[in-house]
Amino acid sequence: MLRVDELFEQQELRHCIRDLVALSTLPAIWKDYNSRQIADSVAAALISMLNADAIYVSAPGLRNEAEVEVLRTSQAISAGSSGRIESILSGAWRGTREQTFAIDNPFGTGSLHIAAVPMGFGGDAGIVAGSLSPNFPSETHRLLLGIAGSHATLAIQRWHVEAQQRRLASLIERSSEFVGVARLDGTVQYLNKAGCELLGLSGIEEAQRLTIFDFLAPDERTRAHRELMPLVMETGRWLGELNLRHFKTGEDIPFLVDWFRIDDLRTGRPMNVATVSRDLRGQKQLEESLRGLNELLEQRVSDRTSELAEALERLTLEGEERMRADDRAQELQLELLHASRLSAAGQMAGALAHELNQPLTAFTNSVNAGRRMMASSAPRIETVRDVLDEAADQALRAGEIIRRLREFVTRGETEMRMEKLPDLIREAIDLASAGIRARGVRVRLRFDPRAEAVLGNRIQLQQVMLNLIRNAHEALAESEWRELDVATARLDAQSIEIAVADRGSGLSDDIIEHLFEPFHTTKSDGMGLGLSICQTIVEAHGGKLLYEPNRGGGAIFRVTLPAPLER
Ligand code: ADP
Repeated sequence: MLRVDELFEQQELRHCIRDLVALSTLPAIWKDYNSRQIADSVAAALISMLNADAIYVSAPGLRNEAEVEVLRTSQAISAGSSGRIESILSGAWRGTREQTFAIDNPFGTGSLHIAAVPMGFGGDAGIVAGSLSPNFPSETHRLLLGIAGSHATLAIQRWHVEAQQRRLASLIERSSEFVGVARLDGTVQYLNKAGCELLGLSGIEEAQRLTIFDFLAPDERTRAHRELMPLVMETGRWLGELNLRHFKTGEDIPFLVDWFRIDDLRTGRPMNVATVSRDLRGQKQLEESLRGLNELLEQRVSDRTSELAEALERLTLEGEERMRADDRAQELQLELLHASRLSAAGQMAGALAHELNQPLTAFTNSVNAGRRMMASSAPRIETVRDVLDEAADQALRAGEIIRRLREFVTRGETEMRMEKLPDLIREAIDLASAGIRARGVRVRLRFDPRAEAVLGNRIQLQQVMLNLIRNAHEALAESEWRELDVATARLDAQSIEIAVADRGSGLSDDIIEHLFEPFHTTKSDGMGLGLSICQTIVEAHGGKLLYEPNRGGGAIFRVTLPAPLER
């Protein structure tokens, strides 16, 4: 076997040992270096150790950071050429194995000798050395290059791990949760800032003098000791609510405690017990106030509901009360109506004699006339029949008057129909005609075509007309103007009028004053009921009966009635 001193010359060996010692001290210098600084430091060391013209180092950056590339050149390569040599060296380097080769000197004659070693990051990282010296790379060069590469790899890897640890540590330290780690015997190894602050500890040193159980409220300790910790050791985890103790105030603080076991990844044996726990005071307070709000809301809803129920009951009672009152009012109205009808019926009963007098007198006259005719030597049968027909008509008329009176007294509605006003008036005049013609009274009729129809009870309206015509006729008894005017007129959209005018005696003031009151009469055989009955009937039709003096002497009675709707 060859000895080292047989492989190397004495001088070269000394240089080699010196360079190896220098290389071995580098990791200590790189303690706080990042990957760029490490790459730069190794490039600077190799340029002098290898007596190289250019050293190119590519190393991985941190996660999400760009790859680190560093170039160092000797005096022989001008600053202006560094870009070119970098691209040559980075381009020359491809692979995961150590390589040596030569290319044409890009700056002059001869060759550029290249030696490359990978760094252990999976192929992208490595160190490439270039030299114009024909002896490059010697065994020593390759040895130094390899050792430098290993050192740099380890240092950069360590830097990466440490950077990750630092990130994690700052995350835990800044967390607002209680984060702690303890040894298996329960003594505290680490407690983050939030943990110290939540329980009133001055810092990690104070915490490290305590055990997990010191953190618990006294009445939780036995359970934690006997049940919970053994459970964590056995199953790996326990999650639940526990009261911790504030070291300064002694106050119990509710926490959601998550205890878990940390095992050694290689051996699988338990190493630590750790916790990430949350202070529940805020949450509990929130829950409490929510509960309070909820209760308040429920109370309000129930208050409001009972208020509403009461109001509803009140309203129902009021409604029923009102309905009862309405019913009573309706009953009273009906009674009133009935009473007024009865009083009108009372008037009518008095008037009955008056009303029936005329048809009965006519009936008696006709029957007497018939009897006389029959008693004559040669009775004319046709004339006798006419006279008897007339008697029968008058008897029917009397019967009709009585029937209407009976209807009027009952509560039932009086039958109303659309009647043709001219027909109705003509019939009334015909009924009164015998007497009128007999006394030589001329009746003048004037019908307005816009007042053709009326909604009413035919018999009652005819009764009104009969009364007015008869009164007029009686007033004309002593007059020289034996004329009677009956006219209809459309007053406006809502009303029509029937006017009965005579040029008779007219009315004295004291009669006018009580004109429509019953039992006011100037006639020896009168009862003073006709006009009051007329007024009752007209008003029952929604109309009015008015008197006014006729300008040339005499009286005008105007009956206004509601005009029927066009339809
Ligand atoms: P009577 O049946 O007694 O005539 P009315 O109520 O019909 O009762 O009339 C009351 C009174 O009004 C009459 O007695 C009469 O004095 C007066 N009167 C009614 N109509 C006329 C008229 N057209 N002209 C003059 N006086 C009248």
